[in-house]
Formats: sequence, structure tokens, C-alpha cells
Amino acid sequence: MRSSGYRLDTPGVDSSAAYPLGMVVQEVNQTYATYAAISQYIMTMQTHFSTQIQAIIERVDAIDPVTYASTRNYVDGAVTRLSPYISRGVISTRFVLDSVLRRGYQPVQIEKFIQELAWRDFFQRIWQSDARLVNTEVKHPQKGVTHHEMPLNVVLHQTGIVAIDKAIRELYETGYMHNHVRMYVASMVCNVARSHWKLPARWLYYHLLDGDLASNNFSWQWVAGSFSNKKYVANQENMNKFCRTRQQGTFMDVSYDQLPHDTVPEVLRETTLPALNMTLPETTLEALDQSKPTLLYNWYNLDPYWYRKEEYNRILLIEPGIFQKYPISKSSMSFMLGLAKNIPDIKIFTGEFAELATQFPGTHFIYKEHPLNRYQGSEEPREFLNDTVTGYHKSFFAFWKKLRPELL
Ligand SMILES: Cc1cc2nc3c(=O)[nH]c(=O)nc-3n(C[C@H](O)[C@H](O)[C@H](O)COP(=O)(O)OP(=O)(O)OC[C@H]3O[C@@H](n4cnc5c(N)ncnc54)[C@H](O)[C@@H]3O)c2cc1C
Repeated sequence: MRSSGYRLDTPGVDSSAAYPLGMVVQEVNQTYATYAAISQYIMTMQTHFSTQIQAIIERVDAIDPVTYASTRNYVDGAVTRLSPYISRGVISTRFVLDSVLRRGYQPVQIEKFIQELAWRDFFQRIWQSDARLVNTEVKHPQKGVTHHEMPLNVVLHQTGIVAIDKAIRELYETGYMHNHVRMYVASMVCNVARSHWKLPARWLYYHLLDGDLASNNFSWQWVAGSFSNKKYVANQENMNKFCRTRQQGTFMDVSYDQLPHDTVPEVLRETTLPALNMTLPETTLEALDQSKPTLLYNWYNLDPYWYRKEEYNRILLIEPGIFQKYPISKSSMSFMLGLAKNIPDIKIFTGEFAELATQFPGTHFIYKEHPLNRYQGSEEPREFLNDTVTGYHKSFFAFWKKLRPELL
């Protein structure tokens, strides 16, 4: 793999205006200078999220689903940190559940854990039911919006709320943020600083290794009250408890009847459009043996077990159109390339599906179903906890009511 073939810039976004302090913009604007630089980056990321399949399986084997139930809301709780692998299609929620059950746990004993896995399927099923929903307000327009940017001090992790600032710094460093803190951040941005959810959701998606348009955009909407009937708010006391901090006297150190504030706190008033630039790798595919079918992999399907024993062509398809619309960070791109190394003889094609099909006419393409795909060939289903409870459900609990009897 060599240096960049494509460079994508978010239209209309001026990075210097977005990041006056320079540090973050430097991080997101860096391009892949050399193969060595990419390898170095992959090694750094592996200290947090290994891309090697053996390490991923070890992480699945280490799940403690009982302790999970009582600690998962704490930043140091027994969460799995498996979302980067589930979202990238390396493993499925079904795979995780089966692995845990094989270790002798009974489903009723680990209901909370199964329920959390089901949240992922709930969001995916909604997206499957109508691909447009991730970009529209599912139930109501978000109330109280005053702008479509982000608070600058959130982007710069300078809100003064220690738990939030630390989590954003760690997000930039590791590509991960604990679920509870994601809720705190989204609430601060949408409900306290009154940003519309869409641009901030795009910013978080860009930085997360587990970036997933359904879980991300629907969760932002859930917090902002456009996919729920109430806005989610948490005060300093709540953040102190779950993030193990002891801050007092902050603008969030108020009682719930004072939240959200009547006016936006000073520290959150200045807004910005974050620069979400990215660089795509060059195509490494030169030839294709057209006597064999071709498996298509992408940002949402990096399953190393898929037709493992078959001698098929394997292509990691990186479509500029998708990444222009939904950019990902340099770390996420490195993560994808690292995970792709688990797939034997995979080649990269950077271009649209139509260009690939034109370049290799008559090829039989096989791919897994996904709402973003516009491919032609044989589509195969993705794996879910259950195959019969599908479609749109108006709330998680409506979905869980049907799913629970199938699993417990
Ligand atoms: C504002 C916001 C944005 C989010 N964006 C994303 C995103 O882009 N991608 C993403 O995968 N998740 C997203 N989530 C959901 C959730 O935060 C992550 O899935 C979870 O934090 C991943 O960490 P984990 O693997 O340690 O989870 P664990 O608690 O160990 O849970 C195990 C698995 O269950 C699933 N899961 C657990 N909780 C949720 C949840 N609330 N919603 C959906 N699935 C869940 C995930 O696949 C997770 O890997 C978002 C949540 C919020 C509030």
C-alpha cells in the first residue's frame, strides 16, 4: 500500500477556523506519507484495539457478562470494548452471544448483557427498514435548536467538565468512548449548548473506530429527544458518580429542575464546524481471476471467516462517494486496513462499485447486505441475534418484547 490516491475534504468547512489551536486539526489533517507511517500508526492503535483476529477472539473469551450487568454504566466497568469489531463486521452480535453461552452461562442469568447486544440489532433493523431514516428525525424535530455547528470547547476538550474533557481526549487517542460518556457529550452538545444533532453526530462518527451510522445517529437523536419523547440530561453529580470524578461548582453542578439551563453557559457559546478531512488509500488491485467469484468487503464488512476455505477473489472496496458523505478519521482508516490483513490475499479497490464492475465486466460479485451498499451481484444476509424479529419498532422496548422470548 502506498500513499494517498484520493483526498476528501468536507465541503464548506474551513479547518483553520474550526480548530484555531491547531493541535486537533494537525491530527485529523495528517495524510499517510509512507507505508512505514501507516504501519507505525497501526502498531500504535493495536495497543488499544488490536486488529489481529486472535486478540479479538481473546477479548470475546474474556467477557464477564455477570459483572457487566452491575458495572457497565461506570467508565471503569466491565464493558467489552467489542463495538469496533462488531461495527466493522469482523464478528456479529450472534457470534458474541454464542461464545458466551458456550462457556456455560444461561440466557436468563445474563439478560442485561443480551439486552445491550440487542440495542445494536434494534438500531440496525430500523436502518434496514428504511435507509433514509439515519439522516432524518425519526419521531419529532429536535426542540430548542439554535445552531447547526458544535461548541468549540467540546471539540477542543476544554469544557471544564473533567469527565467529558478526558473522554474526548481519549476519543482522539483511541477511537473509543464509553457509552455513558457518549450520552453525556451528546446531551451537553444538543441539550445544553443547543446544537442540532446532525453535525456533532458526524464529528463523533468520524473519530470512533466503531462508527456506525445507525447506532450513532439514532443514539444522538435519542439523547436530543427526536427519537424519544424526552431529552436526556445528566448533572455533575451523576457524571461524578459514573466517571469517578469529584468536581463541584461547575455549570453542570445544578439540580435537575435547573437543567437544561435557561441560557447556554458561556463556555459552550462559541461554535465551530469541525474539519473532517480524510485520505483514501490507493488501489492495489491489478488483475482479477474472473473464473472465480469475487467477495466484496468494506468499512462495514471485514469478516475474516467469510468463505474462509474458498479460493475466491477478495476485494476491499473503498468508495469515495460513501466517505465523502460520511468521513472517517485517519485512525479509523488504519484500523480498517489493519483488520483487512486478517483476510487472505485481499486487494484494495478505491473507486465506486460501478467503476469496478466496468473494469472487470462479467465478474460475479458476492456481498453482505448493508443499507449503504448499492452493489449488484449476490447479496447475502448479515448475522443478527435473531432472524425473525425484523423491521421498524417505535422503541427498544417494543423490539425487546418480541425478541426476548426468542432468546431467553
Ligand atoms: C451518542 C452515542 C453515539 C453512539 N455511537 C455509536 C457508534 O457509532 N457505533 C456503535 O457501535 N455504538 C454507538 N453507540 C452505542 C454504544 O455507546 C456503543 O455501542 C458502546 O459504547 C460500545 O462499547 P462496548 O463494546 O464496550 O459496549 P458493551 O457495553 O460492552 O456492549 C456490548 C455490545 O453491545 C452493543 N451495544 C451496547 N450498548 C449499545 C447501545 N446503547 N447502542 C447500540 N449498541 C449497543 C455494542 O455492539 C457493544 O459492542 C453510541 C451511543 C451514544 C449514546
